[in-house]
Amino acid sequence: MKHILAPAQRELLAQLSWSNTLLGFDFDGTLAPIVTDPLRANLRPGTRRLLAELCGLYPCVVISGRSIEDLAPRLAGVPLRALVGNHGLEPWKATEEMRRRVASWRRRLGPRLLGLQGVELEDKTYSLAIHLRRARAKKAARAAILEALGTLGPARLVGGKQVINVLPPGAPHKGLALERERERWGCDTAFFLGDDETDEDVFAMGTPGRLFCVRVGAVRGSHAAYCLKSQLEIDGLLDRLIALRKDGVSQRRHAR
Ligand SMILES: [Mg+2]
Repeated sequence: MKHILAPAQRELLAQLSWSNTLLGFDFDGTLAPIVTDPLRANLRPGTRRLLAELCGLYPCVVISGRSIEDLAPRLAGVPLRALVGNHGLEPWKATEEMRRRVASWRRRLGPRLLGLQGVELEDKTYSLAIHLRRARAKKAARAAILEALGTLGPARLVGGKQVINVLPPGAPHKGLALERERERWGCDTAFFLGDDETDEDVFAMGTPGRLFCVRVGAVRGSHAAYCLKSQLEIDGLLDRLIALRKDGVSQRRHAR
């Protein structure tokens, strides 16, 4: 994977800054640092300021596994074009049938997971997230969870950092959501940053020249061509994107 902030990638970022491009971001682990208690996840003040400025220069969207209800207050005051929640499902594919299905899964799984130390079931209305972060015996917990999930019938399971996401069958993934947003905002290209398994659905879309992907934290086998070394580098990338587009605007002004 190539480090997106390396001098060799400066030209790529400059080209993007002149293009009609959509910027898409995952939330946890990308814009916001990972924290032990997901309820406390938030942008650093510097990131918030840079993201708000970036939104005035490029169309920007956030595509997260969180529900929109959960995400919206965390990004209040940042003029994003759209918030997409539940791994790409919400709002445009969220149906009453999916809501009912997830509610019935929750009722069935709740009692089965109750005895598992450190395992937490999160209800996101249109999907469930089963968190293992606090479990001591992670391997045994994972096996017990998968056994319980086997009783649900068809479901789309997506792994992540110490979490198993359970989505209704047919739920769109983040890659489809990004593509939809790109078309919706009339953009020719998209630039997407994410850090986790569900972001690989975007990275694997494989549209060279149209989609540029950055994984936060380099991992072997990722479909993303570019990486940031850690979440701490996000401000540096936002700052560079802002500076490049402002440069382009002032150069065009001088050329007139
Ligand atoms: Mg993430």
